[in-house]
Amino acid sequence: MVHVPQPLERIIPKIFKSMAVSKSDRFICTFLNDGLVFEEEYRLQFFTDKGYSRYVCDVCGSPFWSLKEEKNCGDTPCRPFTFIGNPLLKEGIQLREMRSLFIDFFEKRGHEKVDRYPIIPRWRDDVLLVSASIFDFQPHVTSGLVDPPANPLVISQPCIRIVDVDSVGKTGKHTTSFEMMAHHVFNSKGKEIYWKEQTVAYCHELFTEDLGAKEEDLIYKEKAWIGGGNAGPSLEVIGGGLEVATLVFMNMKRDDKGDIELEGGKYSPLALNVVDTGYGLERMVWASLGSPTIYDAIYSTVLSPLYGATGISDKIREITYKTALETHATLSALVDVGSKSKIMELRRRVAEDLKGKGVEISSEELNGFLDLMERIYVVADHSRAVALMLSDGMVPSNIKEGYLARLLLRKALRALQDLKVDLSLEGLVGLHLKEFDDILDYGKKDKISEIIQIETGKYEETLEKGKRLVSSKLEKGKIGTDDLVELYDAHGLHPSVVQKMGEELGSPVDIPDDFHALLARKHEKESVEVEAEEELDLPATEMLYYSDPHQMEFEAEVIYSEDGRVVLDSTLFYPEGGGQESDTGVLIVDEKEHRVQSVQKVGKVIFHEMDSDIPKGTKVHGKLNIERRRSLMGHHTATHLLLGSAREVLGDHVWQAGALKTPDYGRLDISHYKDISEEEMAKIERIANEKVLEGIEITATEMDRKEAEKKYGFALYQGGVPVSKTVRVVQTGDFDAQGCGGTHCTNTNQVGMIKITRITGIQDGVERIEFAAGLAAVEYVQKQESLLKEASGTINVPPAQLPKAVSRFFKEWKSMKKELERVKGEKAGSRFATILESAETVGKVSVLTDVSDLDMSGLRALAKEISSKEKMVAILASGVGGAKIVVARSTDVDLDSLEVARKASLVLGGSAGGGPDFAQGGGPRAEEVKKAVEIALKEVKALLA
Ligand SMILES: [Zn+2]
Ligand SMILES: [Zn+2]
Repeated sequence: MVHVPQPLERIIPKIFKSMAVSKSDRFICTFLNDGLVFEEEYRLQFFTDKGYSRYVCDVCGSPFWSLKEEKNCGDTPCRPFTFIGNPLLKEGIQLREMRSLFIDFFEKRGHEKVDRYPIIPRWRDDVLLVSASIFDFQPHVTSGLVDPPANPLVISQPCIRIVDVDSVGKTGKHTTSFEMMAHHVFNSKGKEIYWKEQTVAYCHELFTEDLGAKEEDLIYKEKAWIGGGNAGPSLEVIGGGLEVATLVFMNMKRDDKGDIELEGGKYSPLALNVVDTGYGLERMVWASLGSPTIYDAIYSTVLSPLYGATGISDKIREITYKTALETHATLSALVDVGSKSKIMELRRRVAEDLKGKGVEISSEELNGFLDLMERIYVVADHSRAVALMLSDGMVPSNIKEGYLARLLLRKALRALQDLKVDLSLEGLVGLHLKEFDDILDYGKKDKISEIIQIETGKYEETLEKGKRLVSSKLEKGKIGTDDLVELYDAHGLHPSVVQKMGEELGSPVDIPDDFHALLARKHEKESVEVEAEEELDLPATEMLYYSDPHQMEFEAEVIYSEDGRVVLDSTLFYPEGGGQESDTGVLIVDEKEHRVQSVQKVGKVIFHEMDSDIPKGTKVHGKLNIERRRSLMGHHTATHLLLGSAREVLGDHVWQAGALKTPDYGRLDISHYKDISEEEMAKIERIANEKVLEGIEITATEMDRKEAEKKYGFALYQGGVPVSKTVRVVQTGDFDAQGCGGTHCTNTNQVGMIKITRITGIQDGVERIEFAAGLAAVEYVQKQESLLKEASGTINVPPAQLPKAVSRFFKEWKSMKKELERVKGEKAGSRFATILESAETVGKVSVLTDVSDLDMSGLRALAKEISSKEKMVAILASGVGGAKIVVARSTDVDLDSLEVARKASLVLGGSAGGGPDFAQGGGPRAEEVKKAVEIALKEVKALLA
């Protein structure tokens, strides 16, 4: 049965009434806190049979279903936690046991277990991280385009929800990473597997029978749900104040022509009715252990060294601190800790409550203790999220998901620094990897440690550099939120560092309470913007280039022709796309050649940009520029081979970040966390060329998307994600498989030589490999060789001895240069002695004149030597390589050397520069140097007289 929601008139007025939306929910979806929207949707037979009644919460106004009469919905913040120290579920179930218990339960009831998906959603390009299990099946499964991997299915999907980052450690319940256990059903029209009744019945059975919850402790709260372009009614399952599961019944999709309006958007019924459940694995473990915080329930392996290093292992067992922690955890449910004042309010309530219980602790002591615990929890939590991200191949950077990895990594590093303990982040991450080796990749431990070490180094560097920047900013005025964001994004400076410096300089800095979430939100939006396509009512062009990439001629008919743009019914010309430049060539009509200058694809239509007009209806014979096409195919195929080699050499975190294929060279950008070394580059090049020599056949097959993903994994989508039921899989034996729409060689040996010409880091976390393939590679090598020959010819040694010879020449050249300087100095010294003999005396000043063949540096050296003595003036000239004159005086002589040099330079046809104690001039008239010296001497005499 398909459940159609309420008519429009009943819905609109109620939507905006009360929107007590929690922060974490808003991140991926919006729960409209108004059950009335879908009131009919919640009248389940299950509730009637079990004797449930419907109540309305007197705190938040939400309707809910309960066996016993309740005043409020039982959710936070309407009620404190009651399960702390008094478990809601059967006691003592640890994480692994809880996960398999859940999976087993649903497997026994006909669900197929599906392996978890990577945390980076490679199969879609609208989100950066997986933050709910339904992300695995959006958009193509939920839209009905692709069949689900199993139906019904059960999964435990690791997720990251960065938006909660600022609440971690403050509440005891927020984590940045978690496993969402879920059972999903995709009901198509006329073929319903199960819908609401069965979903609720399963959930109830699991909690009450297998997990030992008391029936009367469970509350089902109504909440309308909107998210990811879908909407529908939902039920939150709450026990002991904790929301342990959410059961969403997705039955609407965003549709501008739809007649159901929700939150300003229009919706229409979905082709599928999707059961989208989410059970928090960590929360369920917490509800079974009843520990003060969720962190104590799941991170004990990492917490115990942290407790040890901070010296509180014994303290937290003392009744005072244990009670303080439990009270804080219990009451934290009542407060949205989004601001500092809220946290202080919570702590006041904790202090009051403790007083009531007769526990003696000063507010100072309590605050200090809770601050310390918060930092410890932040380290324990963020280090697991980091382990998860790096384990799934994320590379920290300044963009996209890499930015979010770095955000958490640095926040963890900072908290660890604040704790002043002798523990390393990579050590703690290593503990997580071992503890959670069923969802994390322990095999990558060494690589992950290396990434963290590199990141730690970078973090410390930015800290040093940034400090100067902050003080100059602070001197200019107040630092606001925008400045803080800029300082963080552009310079890696955390606001708490800025704040500390501000305090020292006496100018306070305010940090928004949700600073990290604000950053994450800003960067979550960095998704690809799709350009609007020009719409023309033309049939799809038949793409002949796919059937045989080696065919170079074809017959076709012009079906559209305007402004030099021609559309054919079919074409061999590959349009620009996927980083590959377009083909060129000619269209021949009655032996006349019309040049095809470039080719573009708009939607399904291929346009040829021509140099001359061809009327509609003309039959044409098309001919490709064969050399260009072959070279393009070679460079394109080479990118596949190089990517495969890079993944083999550097690791499977390597992901294509961009590519360009031209006839003359190719470019492949890959994600990697450090510079690629010479040895690595040589290895990558060697493997790619080995694959060429192996002569591997390359095939292109249109495959069912589900089959293709199953067979090759998401590495298929290196070049992007197609929106279609099928994927064109380009396979190079068992070496590489990619979904790709370009033109490729049919065998690797057609690529010819692949030569990497350069590797550069184009931004943090992205390395660019430039290369040439085939004849372009040969030409490159020839050019390099001729450079080598030219160089070795010049110094007359065979190329093989060039490096040795060059290094010997360089050494000799350096020592000869030194020797030359020394000789020049000596020469100047002996010259000084000679010209001193012919010095003229003006008053008490000796004026030395000389015309020599010294160069300018020789003249300067001599002039310096003379003027370093007392009461001297030097007028030195040379006619070698143009006329030069230098005038200098001792400091105890009152004379403007520049004035003298200027006058003298006039006769040389030039000018002079310098200062009163030293000036130099010159000009083209070398034959006049003697005259210039005479003029200078006359001027000096006049000035000194
Ligand atoms: Zn409530
Ligand atoms: Zn390709």
